Amino acid sequence: MRNRIQIIGVPTDLGQTHRGVDMGPSAIRYAGLVPRLTELGYRVTDRGNFHVPVRGSLQKDELLPAIHKACEAAYRAAQEAVSKGDLPIFLGGDHSISIGTVSGMADVSPVGVIWVDAHGDFNTPETSKSGNIHGMALAILTGKGYSELVNIGKEGRKLNPANVVVIGVRDLDSEEKELLRESGVTVYTMRDIDERGISVCTHEALDHLHPMERIHVSLDVDCLDPLVAPGVGTPVPGGLTYREAHLLMEIVADIHTPVSMDIVEINPLIDVRNQSAQAAVDLCVSLFGKTIL
Ligand code: MG
Ligand code: MG
Repeated sequence: MRNRIQIIGVPTDLGQTHRGVDMGPSAIRYAGLVPRLTELGYRVTDRGNFHVPVRGSLQKDELLPAIHKACEAAYRAAQEAVSKGDLPIFLGGDHSISIGTVSGMADVSPVGVIWVDAHGDFNTPETSKSGNIHGMALAILTGKGYSELVNIGKEGRKLNPANVVVIGVRDLDSEEKELLRESGVTVYTMRDIDERGISVCTHEALDHLHPMERIHVSLDVDCLDPLVAPGVGTPVPGGLTYREAHLLMEIVADIHTPVSMDIVEINPLIDVRNQSAQAAVDLCVSLFGKTIL
């Protein structure tokens, strides 16, 4: 069993407009991530945070280059962890960091991705109303959008849409909806989960990703209902309950130890007593093998 985990903080709030998600890595650490994983038997190394410029120090036209730089650093960190056989857990920051983390994980061999999110993150510069890059991350990974981000690390798209499953979606822009429908990405919306249950949807998702030997879970904490996780960058009502999200992680863990994970979009400024980071840590340890009994 691979039992070494690296914790890597990427405190960027440059991919969106709300302030506070740059404090996510601290909130997740304070919620006990390292001791909880250590308790499970992993050897955990906390590599600290990358340097990311303070948003207020940048002009608007400097945001994209700064995101590019943070993603390049995340890419190299992911590659390095893979080369050592370690399992990296990346702490955001907003979801733009996953352009780097997932690209790095997919560098040597293909990786299947479970993108758990209230949003599709499938906008392009042409379809996005806000221009926020965290809402384009998955589209970029599949080769659509800003070429400098598509080509992080090396030329070309990093994910085959057939190897991506999105779970928990309930808020899509109209043109994003079309792009996502045509993309070849498999999507389980909240309606699918309401009608068929999270267990059936998760098993189906894993069947779909079955040919993939390596699975990355990108957990946007806004997948959870705001009653469970109020402290996120872009809360959307009608999300996963605490137990639905856990069952998802538990089923994935039964079938696959993931090779890597992102925990993104926690905003401690609008959280209540760090409960969103606490919920995210609980989900992370379920994904890495904690069982109830
Ligand atoms: Mg997201
Ligand atoms: Mg989201």
